[in-house]
Amino acid sequence: MNTHHPDPKSDPPKFPDTPEIPYIEGDGTGPDIWKATRHVLDAAVERAYGGKRYIRWKEVLAGEKAFKEAGSFLPDDTLEVIRSLGIAIKGPLTTPVSGGIRSVNVALRQELDLYACVRPVQYIPGVPSPMRFPEKVNMVVFRENTEDVYTGLEWAAESPFARKIIDWVEAETKRKIRSDSGIGIKHMSRFGTRRLVAMAIRYALEHKCSSVTLVHKGNIMKFTEGAFRIWGYELAREVFFEDTLTEDALLNEYGGILPEGKVVIRDRIADAMFQQILLRPDEYGVLAMPNLNGDYISDALAAMVGGLGMAPGANIGDGYAVFEATHGTAPKYAGLDKVNPGSLILSGALMLDYMGWTEAGALVRRGVRRAVSKKHVTYDLARQMEGAVEVSCSGFGRVVVDHF
Ligand code: NAP
Repeated sequence: MNTHHPDPKSDPPKFPDTPEIPYIEGDGTGPDIWKATRHVLDAAVERAYGGKRYIRWKEVLAGEKAFKEAGSFLPDDTLEVIRSLGIAIKGPLTTPVSGGIRSVNVALRQELDLYACVRPVQYIPGVPSPMRFPEKVNMVVFRENTEDVYTGLEWAAESPFARKIIDWVEAETKRKIRSDSGIGIKHMSRFGTRRLVAMAIRYALEHKCSSVTLVHKGNIMKFTEGAFRIWGYELAREVFFEDTLTEDALLNEYGGILPEGKVVIRDRIADAMFQQILLRPDEYGVLAMPNLNGDYISDALAAMVGGLGMAPGANIGDGYAVFEATHGTAPKYAGLDKVNPGSLILSGALMLDYMGWTEAGALVRRGVRRAVSKKHVTYDLARQMEGAVEVSCSGFGRVVVDHF
């Protein structure tokens, strides 16, 4: 995935043969899954490049370990190192209930302006799925990460700020808001939309995906979600004029047959899209959407192919990328060497692709596929698969390496 700049002319970042890469091992089960992941990534790089390339891992602190050792859930040093190296991989982090930080994950995204949450969702044959044809699911979600309703711009019911906003809205618009309402602000910008959609289109072009679908609720929220749709089409027209066409143009000018190398840009209303991913998943490739829609659809898609335990993810900005497990810390299993490290391992494969080390990324994916097809899996999958051999977290890492 080398497509992370909104400017179509900019080059992907270059990595030396022996880069230093920061890692955050994470809270709860984080250290277990990180250990297994590191073993797999090192082995894949060694196998692919025979010692010519290798990663020099550098631990940086975040979460509970950082709070214990440095008195902060997200120390400045950690941000500085990631800023200077441009990349990191992280395990899950506990959302602190106190400590002056809403969520370390959200803070990391905001501090580094990681404006796209990228989630490729593809079925791994053998993983138990609630779908009849899960192999039809092969989508990549680009979810806007810095705007929309849950950036934290909200105020408790009956707080002075909420009262002020309610009074102001009533005075300016003559519309009533119940006085005991909590208030949140949903904001979405042309700038934020364009750079996200640009990243999605570049990805589609580079990976030869035939469509980018803008998913929005613009029929109701016209000036935020509706504007996302308008700005998305506008960006495609202005910046990717030669590479893209609309669904109307495809039907009316090309008889529904997509010309070689082009990407069709279309849009779907979010509620209809939830039906589409279930009923006609094979008709969709790249999806671009605002934050809240993206939150729901990413997890719904992950469930369709067997759950978050195997779903990789990345948060990407201009020049910075943080790859992460998509599930939480599963604290009750911490230190038991039990949980599934698949999500972080596959996020590591995304990281290798991003670095341009695609041979190593492909080995990791192949190892995971083969391990699952041999039914050597962790407890979460083993309990749903007939004839499975349950392996530990580190055991799964070893099986993956054995099956490169
Ligand atoms: P969770 O940690 O994802 O765990 C919920 C359940 O999902 C687990 O009990 C387990 O199910 C299953 N699970 C999660 N990870 C698994 C893995 N690697 N392998 C197999 N099964 C796995 O969700 P949570 O309990 O709601 O959240 C715990 C903490 O994580 C919270 O502090 C939350 O804020 C944080 N969190 C962090 C991130 C992140 O860092 N990106 C994301 C989400 C949540 P069974 O019990 O059925 O085995």
